[in-house]
Amino acid sequence: MKKEIKKELLKSLIVQKEIFGDELFIPKKKRTTTIVKEPSTGFVEPELFPEKKEDWEKAASLDELEKLICNCTKCGLHKNRNKFVFGTGNPNANVLVIGEGPGAEEDKQGLPFVGRAGQLLTGMLKAIKFEREEVYIGNVVKCRPPENRTPLPDEMDTCMPYLKKQSELIKPKLILCLGLTAARGLLKKKESLGMLRGKVFEYEGAKVMVTYHSAALLRNPNWKKDCWEDLKKFKKLYDEIVSQ
Ligand code: URA
Repeated sequence: MKKEIKKELLKSLIVQKEIFGDELFIPKKKRTTTIVKEPSTGFVEPELFPEKKEDWEKAASLDELEKLICNCTKCGLHKNRNKFVFGTGNPNANVLVIGEGPGAEEDKQGLPFVGRAGQLLTGMLKAIKFEREEVYIGNVVKCRPPENRTPLPDEMDTCMPYLKKQSELIKPKLILCLGLTAARGLLKKKESLGMLRGKVFEYEGAKVMVTYHSAALLRNPNWKKDCWEDLKKFKKLYDEIVSQ
């Protein structure tokens, strides 16, 4: 039987299954007739519902990825967006730093961590001997949440695949999550920040540590001492892993 005819037949069987259920549909295991597979012709049964990849999922570089996603409208956050904040830094960084989402200044400039919390982050990185340009800095969501509110779970779920893809392209050896939103978005953990700090987790082959968000440190400077302890641990882990 011709390949085209088989395809048509299969299509109509799928429609039939949708309308009538399995009753008139020959279950896959029991298919012995010519309906689906006939190895002698080399015909390969198509997946019933193949998962279609979006273009951005196939991006081979960060620049390509940014071009493909910068006009994203998948969640409501795009409505108030001034600029899409993709992320910035060394595309081959050993260290990926993850924040929550853009604030007012980031939304204006299209760059992450360029406001007050960003200045403090630059200082925190310097304290453990990293230049900003040496690491990569990104966020869980790429568009500013109204009034800087915490991103909603569905906004995070919608945007996280972009960060995952960024991480796949960068291949960092270590990830530093700033605050609970970054940690929960990446690690899918429910624990409090207190429970997550000081531990080492894994994400797609990278070691992950969690500390305070620099914006939280601006509001509560007495947390800086604990944050410093976290940063020292992170740097020690970095030295162990990167100089190996
Ligand atoms: N806070 C974040 O989490 N990300 C930024 O880019 C700026 C502030």
